[in-house]
Amino acid sequence: MNLLITGGLGYIGAHLAVELLKSNANVFILDDLSNSKIQKKKNIEKLSKKKIKFIKNDLSNYKILSKILKKNKIHTVFHLAGSKAVNESFFKPYKYYLNNSFKTMQLLRAMHESDVNNIIFSSSATVYGVKNKNGIKEDGYLEPINPYGTSKLISEKLIIDQSKIKKKFNYIILRYFNPIGYHPSGLLSDDKSNDNLVPNLINKLRLKKPFLIYGRDYDTKDGTAIRDYIHINDLISAHVSSLKYLYKNKNEIFNVGTGKGYSVLEILKTFDKVLNRKITKKFVKRRKGDPAIIYCSNLRIKKKLNWRPMHNLKDMCKYALNKIY
Ligand code: NAD
Repeated sequence: MNLLITGGLGYIGAHLAVELLKSNANVFILDDLSNSKIQKKKNIEKLSKKKIKFIKNDLSNYKILSKILKKNKIHTVFHLAGSKAVNESFFKPYKYYLNNSFKTMQLLRAMHESDVNNIIFSSSATVYGVKNKNGIKEDGYLEPINPYGTSKLISEKLIIDQSKIKKKFNYIILRYFNPIGYHPSGLLSDDKSNDNLVPNLINKLRLKKPFLIYGRDYDTKDGTAIRDYIHINDLISAHVSSLKYLYKNKNEIFNVGTGKGYSVLEILKTFDKVLNRKITKKFVKRRKGDPAIIYCSNLRIKKKLNWRPMHNLKDMCKYALNKIY
């Protein structure tokens, strides 16, 4: 079976490619290298001992995309390509509407033209905003508080619409919470995403600079923001289960998180234990668009996909630091 990963040389896409290559699937990756390096292709092939077909392209031209899908007889698209920095999305909102929403529309149009009818889409917890009670369920309020979240919500709606218009079109939307950790080889680490906690921390450790904690005045037990961190392997296994589910069933939205919230200080304490020393930190002002507490209910994915997160916070921190320690 031929599977396409858009954004497949990025952090999550590269881990997904290695996992999918364990099966008999042929993996195709389309990436414009705007947030990744071509070296990742070699690293994926080294780890999997298999070849992938790499297509350097972006998603703006549906006619080209349609040709790629047809020529390579793609069965299912994992759509991960996009821009992901919440903070940046405030000062470059159009980059987000364009790269995430408009280009998802172009991909959908290409899928329609080429009669490719299965998509697994990488959405985000940011579609929920701040109105929901924690332990957020998939049918919670959808009121994003940043342009990134809006761009993801628009993409979700476009995908859902396509399934209404075309009965044989199937989707699974995965709303990721906060993925952390890397493949133990260190070959799939993510050096470019400084907006995310772990790449940011690793960079600060390398540069011997203090780690910046955004906000200590949140209404939480220790004043720092609480998030639902999910180990990269658990996130990837949710994709593999989704692929199996998609063949037999139709159209689902799943939260992918552990259902537990940890504060930034709790995360740092765990890193301290793993490193056996104290990380230097500095408190700075809150970032715009960062809610105080977000964690999900994962009951739906547990029930329907029989999926379980297998890794705890200590595992996540160990995996995250593998490359440098
Ligand atoms: P990433 O930036 O590491 O990977 C995205 C990849 O997509 C990069 O390789 C980039 O070069 C490519 N890309 C971007 N725009 C493209 C375009 N127009 N055409 C072709 N390729 C393009 O990001 P990631 O952390 O791997 O995230 C993957 C997906 O998951 C994204 O859609 C992101 O919004 C979503 N997500 C990520 C997180 C997270 O914390 N990492 C959380 C929630 C959701």
